[in-house]
Amino acid sequence: MIGNQGKIVLNHLQRAMVAEEKQGCCNTGVVGGFHLFLKGILSRLGQLEQDGDFSVLKDITHHYKDWSPLQRRQALAHLRRFLEEQKEPALSSQIDLKQDEREPKEPVETTDFHGPDSHAEDSHDKERTVRSNPSRALQYLKGVGPERAKFLAQLGLHNVKDLFFYFPRRYEDRSLRGIGELKDGEVATIAGKVVASQLSRGKIKVVKLSIEQEGRLIYGVWFNQTFILKQFPVGTSVIVTGKVRWQQRVPEIQATDIQKSGAAKLAEIIPVYSETARLSSKVLRGIIQGVMDQASEIFPEFLPSEEGGRWYSRAQAYQEIHFPQSFHSLGQARERLVFEEVLFLQLAVARLRAGVQKDDSPQLKDGEQLVKRFYDQLPFELTHAQKRVIQEIFRDMAETKGMARLVQGDVGSGKTAVAMAALLMAVGSGYQGAMMAPTEILALQHYQSLEAAFRPLGLNVVCLLGSQTKSERDKILSEIAYGKAQVIVGTHALIQESVQFHSLGLAITDEQHRFGVKQRTSLQTKGENPHVLVLTATPIPRTLALTLYGDLQLSALDEMPAGRKPIITRKLTERGRLSLEKFMDEQMDKGRQVYVVCPLVEESESLDLISATERFESLQERFPHRQVRLLHGRMKGAQKEEVMEAFQKGETHILVSTTVIEVGVDVPNATVMVIEGAERFGLAQLHQLRGRVGRGSEQSYCFLLSDTKNSRRLDVLCETQDGFKIAEEDLKLRGAGELLGTRQHGLMELRLADLSRDGRLVEQAYQFTQKVLAHPEHYVRVWQECDQFFSIENVGLH
Ligand code: ADP
Ligand code: MG
Repeated sequence: MIGNQGKIVLNHLQRAMVAEEKQGCCNTGVVGGFHLFLKGILSRLGQLEQDGDFSVLKDITHHYKDWSPLQRRQALAHLRRFLEEQKEPALSSQIDLKQDEREPKEPVETTDFHGPDSHAEDSHDKERTVRSNPSRALQYLKGVGPERAKFLAQLGLHNVKDLFFYFPRRYEDRSLRGIGELKDGEVATIAGKVVASQLSRGKIKVVKLSIEQEGRLIYGVWFNQTFILKQFPVGTSVIVTGKVRWQQRVPEIQATDIQKSGAAKLAEIIPVYSETARLSSKVLRGIIQGVMDQASEIFPEFLPSEEGGRWYSRAQAYQEIHFPQSFHSLGQARERLVFEEVLFLQLAVARLRAGVQKDDSPQLKDGEQLVKRFYDQLPFELTHAQKRVIQEIFRDMAETKGMARLVQGDVGSGKTAVAMAALLMAVGSGYQGAMMAPTEILALQHYQSLEAAFRPLGLNVVCLLGSQTKSERDKILSEIAYGKAQVIVGTHALIQESVQFHSLGLAITDEQHRFGVKQRTSLQTKGENPHVLVLTATPIPRTLALTLYGDLQLSALDEMPAGRKPIITRKLTERGRLSLEKFMDEQMDKGRQVYVVCPLVEESESLDLISATERFESLQERFPHRQVRLLHGRMKGAQKEEVMEAFQKGETHILVSTTVIEVGVDVPNATVMVIEGAERFGLAQLHQLRGRVGRGSEQSYCFLLSDTKNSRRLDVLCETQDGFKIAEEDLKLRGAGELLGTRQHGLMELRLADLSRDGRLVEQAYQFTQKVLAHPEHYVRVWQECDQFFSIENVGLH
């Protein structure tokens, strides 16, 4: 057994192995070469563990540099197994060699994961306590122990239930195949008998087993794993999985797995879990498999029989999603779980809304005069869409049933003017109106434009930000509380407890998708049931809207202000930079302004990232006669304000920034948008960024700089300006949670559902949600499970 020092060294090694594998086993996982790192580890171990046997490590260290990436990968897999054995000899060998690929419901002789059938009394007891409590810590599970429990915790797995939620990343098809049907390059599993074996010694030791299957031969090939010869001698019946190479008469299989085909029936579909340095997919599979028979206890059915009959039972679904009998049943299991997930989400959202929507909102209908004066001073005519949406809003605001309306309009469609009209209707009716924006920059922008438009009308507009000084803040807070401030703009500082409104009648949230459910609803709970309006530029597919907003009303701003020219969009590589800079110069000669957006400030996160600071400096050098300014998220509020203002006034020619300008910023004279490292952004985000130009009548341009070969998805942006198409592509590529900016908010994260593909299930869930909402008393069990699902403190309005 290895000592503590030795273990630390091995941990170190394992972490480096993960890095190396992530880099494709190119000997680059460690700076200076992975093989040299191995050498260092080896000599360290030699000192620490003088009687340890590290011949495997020695072999690999010796040859690593000369191997192909594939050979290296195999060697590392082998090494990993070896290391696990070094640390926990008894346990890991059982998992790896016996426990692994068994059919899930089969009783198993090893005791590490399946106690009761085959084991002594005390383990019975232990097992029973674990069973009766699904939230019992994992360390007490057989085969886990304190150390593994720690690693599981790092994956967010603390109890048995968590294990069920740790869904496989993918599945491997291990159905047995005939040699004749194998194709070159595929990964396949075959069964046969070892009829001959050979070992060719050279730099690399190649083990070759000749495996016969119904009169046909295939070679199983291993590199530097001579133990295979001993473990699977001639005459053994084996099952081998690996990549098929068929370039000669007899095919080869580069084996990643081999086992004796014994009596136990083998599972044909093997789940593959996301692994960490200390927990391989195999080990995870063993641990998860060990709790599968608790499924029916932990996940009792809650659907009433008339609904439940259409789906797999809950417990069955959880078992099948981990250890499917067939790909068909896997599909069924997934359907059930997606249905359930979407159902819970819809119920949670509906309840949130019910909690804030009562029938006593103020009737806001006396602002006509004020609104008319605002129209008269507007420098443009409203589009038909804007007029229509404003009417829809006014109709809602006149009712005591509070408004809950989502205005969806692509970037540049003029949502701000719509919001302004609504605010004026509220103020004209004697109430306050508030508008919340997701970033300080955007809040400031809104503040500036609202202030400019409303001051001539005699209104008092204030702005509340997180970064203000205490005295500034106190002054503003009191103005809000005493009603001196009629229109309030701010970031989520607005929803903090210290903010008391005098009479909040309308709450607007801009760029909705950037807020989580919780933040979104908190503004509504301020004041006496204000009317609620949300603005979003991200077109939300219908299915997603249903799920996220329940019965929220939708208004579409589906018309762009007249005279807009499509933005010319081009992909560029580094080579195009010179001509790009020349072009920027020409545009600036014409009096136009330029945005340059970079993915990150400072180089800390990754070496190849072009930092905004660096870009800023090089642009200053390149354009000594122009005003170049830098804007980034870590600047103070006042600093940001000053930089933004200078750009807005046209004093600054080039604004270099991080994505802080992503949403909402409005400078019509800026006609060029340059996006560095474009491949690092999501499509919807790029579309938003591009929307910062093309706001005036001049021709605008957007340049996507990207040096990755795989920048094909950027073509979507070059081809279309249609936010809907782009959002749909984005949804496909990134998943709904991320698109909605909700990953960090927990509540909204969908574990299985892919709302772009699961439209039918979302509709079905919607139908059922309506039933549950109509007669909540009939569906107590459903509500209970829903609470459990979100571990309720998030939702908290019940
Ligand atoms: P978004 O919908 O992206 O929030 P904004 O409200 O910022 O768009 O409007 C974009 C630009 O279009 C602003 O400069 C605004 O003044 C202008 N604008 C809004 N409505 C019209 C209109 N009907 N005609 C012309 N320009 C308009
Ligand atoms: Mg906007």
